[in-house]
Amino acid sequence: MRGLFGLGKKKEESDNKESGPESAVSNEARYIVQYDRKICIGAGVCAAVDGKHWEMVKDGKANLKGSTEKSEKLFEREVPETELEEVKRAAEGCPPSAIKIIRKDTGEKIV
Ligand code: SF4
Repeated sequence: MRGLFGLGKKKEESDNKESGPESAVSNEARYIVQYDRKICIGAGVCAAVDGKHWEMVKDGKANLKGSTEKSEKLFEREVPETELEEVKRAAEGCPPSAIKIIRKDTGEKIV
């Protein structure tokens, strides 16, 4: 007799769950950077310490490069673990704490 029900072949199909632009990256943790532009005071720390992800713009506030607006003035983007230290520096240096970092798979608040 053959094995019934295929019990041993439970396989996860997680590659295409979300349409992330860098889904080819293996099992590296990913982080969500959240930026509340309403409370940005334009101190410029973020752009000074992490110009890769942040820039100052005409209205005197920061822009989180490559982000999308999730709700009014609340912006988000993902970064891989290799960029975590840079975005952490910006978040930790932001005087009004306008920047939060959350680990995507566990929901752990990093900053
Ligand atoms: S460090 Fe914070 S307050 Fe200063 S520009 Fe960046 S986001 Fe705005």
